[in-house]
Amino acid sequence: MASAPSEKWVYVFGDGSADGTAEMKNLLGGKGANLAEMSNLGLPVPPGFTITTDVCSYYYQEKGAYPAGLAHQVAVALDTIGTLVDCKFGDALRPLLVSVRSGARASMPGMMDTVLNLGLNDLTVEGLADRSGDRRFAFDCYRRFIQMYSNVVLNVDHSLFEEEIESYKDVHGLKSDTEISSEAWREIIEKFKNIVRSETGVAFPQDVDEQLWGAIGAVFGSWMTTRAVTYRQLNQIPEAWGTAVNIQAMVFGNLGMTSATGVAFTRNPSTGVKELYGEFLVNAQGEDVVAGIRTPQNITETARLAAESQSPSLEALMPQVFAELVNVYLKLERHYRDMQDIEFTIQDGKLWMLQTRSGKRTAKAALKIAVEMVDEGLIDPAEAISRIEPASLEQLLHPTLDPNAPRELLGVGLPASPGAASGEIVFNSEDAQYLKSLGRKAILARVETSPEDIHGMHAAEGILTTRGGMTSHAAVVARGMGKPCVSGAGTIQIDYAKEQLMAGGVILKKGDLVTIDGSTGQIMRGEIATIRPEMSDDFARLMSWADAKRRLKVRANAETPADAKIAREFGAEGIGLCRTEHMFFDQDRIVAVREMILADNQQGRRSALAKLLPMQRADFIELFEIMSGLPVTIRLLDPPLHEFLPHSDEEIDEVARATGTSSEVLRARVVELHEFNPMLGHRGVRLAVSYPEIAEMQARAIFEAALEAGTRTGQPVTPEIMIPLVAIKGEFDLVRKLIVDVAEDVQREYDRELDYLIGTMIELPRAALRASEIAQSAEFFSFGTNDLTQTTYGISRDDSSRFLAEYESKGLITVDPFVSVDRDGVGELIKIAAERGRMTRSDIKLGICGEHGGDPASIKFCEEIGLDYVSCSPFRVPIARLAAAQASA
Ligand code: PEP
Ligand code: MG
Repeated sequence: MASAPSEKWVYVFGDGSADGTAEMKNLLGGKGANLAEMSNLGLPVPPGFTITTDVCSYYYQEKGAYPAGLAHQVAVALDTIGTLVDCKFGDALRPLLVSVRSGARASMPGMMDTVLNLGLNDLTVEGLADRSGDRRFAFDCYRRFIQMYSNVVLNVDHSLFEEEIESYKDVHGLKSDTEISSEAWREIIEKFKNIVRSETGVAFPQDVDEQLWGAIGAVFGSWMTTRAVTYRQLNQIPEAWGTAVNIQAMVFGNLGMTSATGVAFTRNPSTGVKELYGEFLVNAQGEDVVAGIRTPQNITETARLAAESQSPSLEALMPQVFAELVNVYLKLERHYRDMQDIEFTIQDGKLWMLQTRSGKRTAKAALKIAVEMVDEGLIDPAEAISRIEPASLEQLLHPTLDPNAPRELLGVGLPASPGAASGEIVFNSEDAQYLKSLGRKAILARVETSPEDIHGMHAAEGILTTRGGMTSHAAVVARGMGKPCVSGAGTIQIDYAKEQLMAGGVILKKGDLVTIDGSTGQIMRGEIATIRPEMSDDFARLMSWADAKRRLKVRANAETPADAKIAREFGAEGIGLCRTEHMFFDQDRIVAVREMILADNQQGRRSALAKLLPMQRADFIELFEIMSGLPVTIRLLDPPLHEFLPHSDEEIDEVARATGTSSEVLRARVVELHEFNPMLGHRGVRLAVSYPEIAEMQARAIFEAALEAGTRTGQPVTPEIMIPLVAIKGEFDLVRKLIVDVAEDVQREYDRELDYLIGTMIELPRAALRASEIAQSAEFFSFGTNDLTQTTYGISRDDSSRFLAEYESKGLITVDPFVSVDRDGVGELIKIAAERGRMTRSDIKLGICGEHGGDPASIKFCEEIGLDYVSCSPFRVPIARLAAAQASA
């Protein structure tokens, strides 16, 4: 192996050893580091070398130039690998052929360029023909090389070459490429060279060094293509990482019927089942499997039987190679302690490993694999917790198709990425993106997707392809994104020109509703009803590990009994925010609420409130019962008025009838109550200041319900009453006194003791700054980060989506502050409030109940500053439990 000078740009691997290791991903990229590691493990890896990511950085800094010494190191490395395989680069008799591939630190499947069979020219092709004893194969390789190189390096349109091949077949009455003889390929190659000359103005390079440096430059150049840039943005991969280039001696999967190429996962990436799972193609090269050109064969006999495929499995076709592959995969899994995604080639009956990396998997698979690997002793529970992306759990919590719902089946493809999705069918990525921008749901249907479709796949609810296997581009990318996908639905035809899809006798036009089920592969007409999924045992176990590890408590934002029940099923440890105004949206209540708001005197309000009191009390009893003794934080009414005011004549008439007032008077009152900026208007505590009787009614309903629920369940209830939108201590004190007075009345009337807390939301910058003083009266703080973000930024939370996306795309912000807490600004205020609050009241209870309470990055922040709990929507409770466990040290 090469020595290690200070500026080492090239790392060699092969023949049971390597300059690099798996730990050197930053320098060698994922592919390079793992090729080195496989080599060190003694696995059969074709020898090769990696040009480091430092060279990529240099290349961009120096506008396409290479560091001194690189050329020499590459030449030496080529000699080294040539010696290992008894060949020489450019040699007429024993030509060394190489593959040139990209390989960044994080995997970016299909995003960057690859060139195979490099080193072929008019002379070396003869050497290859002699050595392989197969002229046809040699010339087939040469034409493939010209096609790939011209496309990737010289930017010649791929279809020009394909048209040439098609026209040759037409003229000679041939059906498939395999019928084309070596002499015919030779003729076609001459035509290919003409295409290159006419398209680029220069001849196809015969000089192998020129070929090599052209390909290296193209790989580095592909780091900045639009599709690579988009992929990095979507996956938060920094541009500065750069890519490495891997140059490796070619092995041929297309050397006849004893050769093949394939990809496999060491566990099923869709379900997580422990089985070697993959596909291969006999007599094929390189990317043929992933490209979805031919439908590949199954690796195991079990998979073949399950797929009812007539094509033989690798297990049956090449039992010895299969046995070796099984050994290799078991070794790799044990070594990496994770599910691997491997690529291999079989050349004339000999197995070669081309790649291993951690395999992308669905949330369901990730969960099963993590839990089973703990049982197998490969990893510990802490490691299992760290391996699950909290947000991905959403996939598991999402509804699945109701098995009893009627469905009109259009066809069945491969269950490539689980989950059900419905939407309007579209046939290109632009349409998918457009529908998404209108807030509508799209299902992207393509013959096969390519890296150019990433944005459309991202925008779509689900993806359907008519070609390609379980490891096709669509399948791999969809699984990575957690999107439902059905691939290879061969009975369905797509007509791009007519923008329609034909399935049997049915035609779906662009915009028609369709449902796909990525768990079964079914494609159905229309939108199918869904149901909530059952939680699996694996899920429960992972959650129990997470619960044991986390410090932060997790509560839910819930006000309806249905939500409270879901919250408990998902493990919520209380309710952190019950928005009481949401309890008034019901049709039979809204009139009474409107009556209360529109009343122009206290008496009118009190009569409306008297109607609401029993309803509120009944609601609270039910909530307390469901939460049986767990803490429940009830927030006093906080409606932005415009959400409740009647607008239509009909609505106004309805309130008029209920109150015995004329519609005209009411209409005038609506105008009077109109606010220019309701979000900053007469809401929150301000309502209680103006209309104390509302707060009194609510406090009474809460206390009476607490006593009643306590009696019914035998569990004493300690309600936490929360006052919203406080800015001034005086506001808090005023309303607090009202509540305390009601508590005293209720205790006297019922002759029972009440236990309760009164606290406030911190959702205005002033409250955060004056937290020390507010904490003199408030027993808890709950950070309302929705309003706190709105008021800190001065950006309306209802209008932000119109322009914040632009802020993100221009790099002014990295993430929407309404989604993930803005640590620097809003976070600073939260920190200040927490510190000042604790200074006054050391045991003050601190929580967060804005949307951020369910966002993993924000939860990490809450852990760092030592809040007591986070509160989020019921469906996010498991996500928060896992994120809290990951956040705790
Ligand atoms: C908040 O402002 O963060 C909050 C939870 O209250 P709401 O969303 O109801 O204004
Ligand atoms: Mg708020």
